[in-house]
Amino acid sequence: MKSVEAHLAEILATVRPLAPLELELERALGTTLAEDVSSPVPLPPFDNSAMDGYAVRARDVADVPVTLPVIDDVAAGSGELRAVGPGHAVRIMTGAPLPGGADTVIPVEWTDGGTVTVTISRTADAGNAVRRAGEDVQTGEVVLKAGTLIRPAQLGIIAGVGRRRVLVRPQPRVVVLSTGAELVEPGMPLGHGQIWDSNSFTLTASVREAGAEGFRATTVGDDPTAFLEQLDAQLVRADAVVTSGGVSMGAYEPVKEALSPLGTVNFEKVAMQPGMPQGFGVVGEDQVPIFALPGNPVSSFVSFMLFVRPAVMKMRGLPAGFPETSSAIVTGALRSPSGRRSYLRGVLAEDGTVSPVRGQGSHQLAALASANALIVVAESVTEVAAGSEVEVIRL
Ligand code: AMP
Ligand code: MG
Repeated sequence: MKSVEAHLAEILATVRPLAPLELELERALGTTLAEDVSSPVPLPPFDNSAMDGYAVRARDVADVPVTLPVIDDVAAGSGELRAVGPGHAVRIMTGAPLPGGADTVIPVEWTDGGTVTVTISRTADAGNAVRRAGEDVQTGEVVLKAGTLIRPAQLGIIAGVGRRRVLVRPQPRVVVLSTGAELVEPGMPLGHGQIWDSNSFTLTASVREAGAEGFRATTVGDDPTAFLEQLDAQLVRADAVVTSGGVSMGAYEPVKEALSPLGTVNFEKVAMQPGMPQGFGVVGEDQVPIFALPGNPVSSFVSFMLFVRPAVMKMRGLPAGFPETSSAIVTGALRSPSGRRSYLRGVLAEDGTVSPVRGQGSHQLAALASANALIVVAESVTEVAAGSEVEVIRL
């Protein structure tokens, strides 16, 4: 059996970061910067007031209280400014440019708030409540490096240096395709022997949580030809495809039957539980990566976390690897098959304990939904006693 490490290594050696393209800022959230972004101007671009108050010369307010004539009003956005002469005050608002001659700002709270004259009751040193040009960013300074994930604050600084468009690696478009003759669309009545398709919802949502665009394709039955037709139709919009079901050892395994003859997709047994049967390879002219995951709901979910999520990260140009683990104390005994790494479902508590959920079957979707962690049990370990330290992956 192939190790989980070897399987992920093969996947990461195959998938490539998406080619950079220029996007409007409105579409750049969640993408990865593919250029260094620098500022064409200093930020702030000019000296300005950090508070609502009065721009004065510090030496004119050395002895307080003092009453000064208010010779002008400057709001944020004011272009033409009158200089502040000796003994003068200018009423100034937050973000407004500091007029010439003034070297400090007295907050309105330290004054009587006058508009013709102002009485100032507290003194301040030069530079009080003044934001200096360039104190955030100097002209030409790199504010974000290539490879940075664009989140709201990063989007803000890109806009803040005046950019409308930015070179990024886009979010990969990932098509999710469930297979199974037994599957019925949720909301429709269930016949005997049928179940509602849940995997395509879990997987599409997982794709989105991994920072990609998820497209849920219409489910296909167990006919390899129908599967190939649907795959073909979906490939035009896919940077990667995730399928569920039809990869096991039984009959009516449409994914395996359709893709094996291509020779570009391998179906293997990976030493893990759940999720032993795994298919991975590339399809179509563009060599689109395809992840053929097993159909059991817990198996496909765990497979996604271990293999597809890191691949999505790599396609986004971000660091990619197995999910991070931390340690916890397990509250109940665990069993695990020899030679396979187990990913058991558990509830991680604030106190650093993890309790295995009731129902560890790979079909037990409700048990999965009640968990917030996967408990990892190494290949060589078959029994874990209650109270032992274990590795967990937070979900
Ligand atoms: P398969 O991998 O196709 O042999 O399916 C394994 C098990 O997972 C079977 O019990 C299927 O009914 C179930 N299964 C397959 N696909 C889905 C799906 N999309 N949603 C929920 N259960 C599924
Ligand atoms: Mg099936």
